[in-house]
Amino acid sequence: MLIDSHAHLEMKEFEHDRREVIERAKLAGVDFIVTVGTNLALSRKAVSLATQYENIYATIGIHPHDVGKIGYKTYDDLKELARNKKVVAYGEIGLDFFRNIAPQALQKEKFGEQLQLAQELKLPVIIHDRDAHEQSLQMVKDSGIRQGVFHCFSGDYAMARKCLDLGFYLSVPGVVTFGKAQTLQNVVKNVPLSSLLLETDCPYLTPDPYRGKRNEPAYIVHTAQKVAEIKGLPWEEVATIAAQNTLDLFRIEASSDK
Ligand SMILES: [Zn+2]
Repeated sequence: MLIDSHAHLEMKEFEHDRREVIERAKLAGVDFIVTVGTNLALSRKAVSLATQYENIYATIGIHPHDVGKIGYKTYDDLKELARNKKVVAYGEIGLDFFRNIAPQALQKEKFGEQLQLAQELKLPVIIHDRDAHEQSLQMVKDSGIRQGVFHCFSGDYAMARKCLDLGFYLSVPGVVTFGKAQTLQNVVKNVPLSSLLLETDCPYLTPDPYRGKRNEPAYIVHTAQKVAEIKGLPWEEVATIAAQNTLDLFRIEASSDK
């Protein structure tokens, strides 16, 4: 079993060949894809894709880059979307102090509000944390939420332990295949497989050997293989355990939905 726990199939990069991309994922053995909303319009699109394709699930939320666009009605619209059965998580939400597209104070305010909303909706959360490890961790801790994933995990092993202590999963992107990604490789080596998910974050973060091209769910195989190499396990075993973790976190019942 193989799952891409974090993709952005709703994005415009897939506008011209979405159907083929989804087909290639199937041929590569990807059983499910979770496509992740980053603003209201794209959350709507993600939900519509999940409605259209059996093997796609969706999440909803406003990415830290887009929090400036949150209007008086946005949360109500998201709540409405959350009623769809194929919405399995709230996110991606969090803090991005690397690109700082929205002011940091606003990012924090809207992250806090959305953590609350996720709790109200009883959905696990997908956290985006870039150069804001301490603040993200503290806000998650204070929210009381104990189910979710730090996506594209970019911290060190000490940070990883703190996330695990909160009951969170860590998600490993294609970055792990890069020669220079030693911090992430070290995290993968030392964190139990029972706490790891695999993701593409496509169209971004394309793994080797496709680096430089647009990323897509079929390439998750290379990430699984690299994690397996680090762990010294067969890649199919790594893929299956990570897939099971994804199903557990997002409460997806594989048998009835396939
Ligand atoms: Zn993402």
